Amino acid sequence: MRKFIVVLSGILLLFAMPANAADFNCAADIPKHEYTPQEQKLVDQYWSEVLIYLDAYLTVLEKPSGQCRDSAEATIQTFQPSTGKPQSRCILRYRDVELVAKHLKAVLDNPEGAKACFDPQKSQTKDGLYTPSVKVQQLSQVSEWLDRPLLTKFYKDLGGEIGDAGVLLNDNFIAITKKTETEPHWPTDISINGLKTLWSSVGWIPMYSKREDAVNKPFRGGYLYAEVMGPAGALRIDTIDGELVGAEIGLTVQLFNTAYPFHHHNPQEIYITLTKPACVDQNKYALMHWDNPALVQQRGKDGWNVFIDGSGDEWKKWFIDLNPTTGWLAYIERNAVHAFYSKEDCNQTIENSGLVTSWARTTARTANQDTDVCHAMQPGTKALAPWTPVVCHAKDWAR
Ligand code: ZN
Repeated sequence: MRKFIVVLSGILLLFAMPANAADFNCAADIPKHEYTPQEQKLVDQYWSEVLIYLDAYLTVLEKPSGQCRDSAEATIQTFQPSTGKPQSRCILRYRDVELVAKHLKAVLDNPEGAKACFDPQKSQTKDGLYTPSVKVQQLSQVSEWLDRPLLTKFYKDLGGEIGDAGVLLNDNFIAITKKTETEPHWPTDISINGLKTLWSSVGWIPMYSKREDAVNKPFRGGYLYAEVMGPAGALRIDTIDGELVGAEIGLTVQLFNTAYPFHHHNPQEIYITLTKPACVDQNKYALMHWDNPALVQQRGKDGWNVFIDGSGDEWKKWFIDLNPTTGWLAYIERNAVHAFYSKEDCNQTIENSGLVTSWARTTARTANQDTDVCHAMQPGTKALAPWTPVVCHAKDWAR
């Protein structure tokens, strides 16, 4: 009888638990919040748009495209010398992406549990989180309440070529981010057109404004990223059911007529292009594994020196079009070298162009997160174009 009661109570307990319950361990820096009912409404509004974005993101990863039957197909190299063509793979075949999908499912199945790890990051100036402009702030009551410092002021104060590019991007942030097309692959419009509160409330980071190694001044002022989920984002979950959460999911915006030089990093990365370009080949990118035979590798003390020489027309073989329909999804393996190039001469204006992406990293808590920009082979080079010969130092992986 006693055994029967134990079994029975076990069964009852099983029924009492939600089908896909998950145990969320929030990051230690989530503050204890006390909100007024009015503030709570704003927090809830922000959280609901975060959930819409994450839900759509998961759908994109899992929706079959290209040659893949149960996954999206991602470009993993834009050029292979053996075929002369790009290389692709079903993105969910990568274990790190599979884990991102699993953790997103846990969040979406248990939004109330995950919400404990949601922090709108009000008054966290130490993290350097900004809102692009007053006009962006006015898009949502949430953004007005968060009252972050403005990037238009940040770049005006910075001045010079970097400051000018930053003011241009942030003054035109709405026009640039509106020029998107999400229908081909997204189940909902996750751009600023559909998720005004998210885009205006998330903390934007002027990542390259202080980094001289990125060389190109219009690019350094004309680039922003924001983190929605991840170690520096609004949703900060350390573990789910004891498993480390590597997902870092956000957004990027790059000014037109700029070049993001070749760079690389240890964590893997995913880019999904949202911008509808002013002309078909306006935005281009190159992505090659560090050991791609088109490049020259030389063993160094603690890694590999990778020489990239795109001079002449060589670079044109490597760079392919980025747009929301074809070439829309890129998966960047560890230490793969990549560069983004938004070319001039296609009748673009500040309002009709730019490069806006949905951006993610997948192992944000396990690997060295530094982004290393490749250096010009020729000392004193003033700008890094896709055709400028550069050398990258790909460090051995720290496990
Ligand atoms: Zn990258």
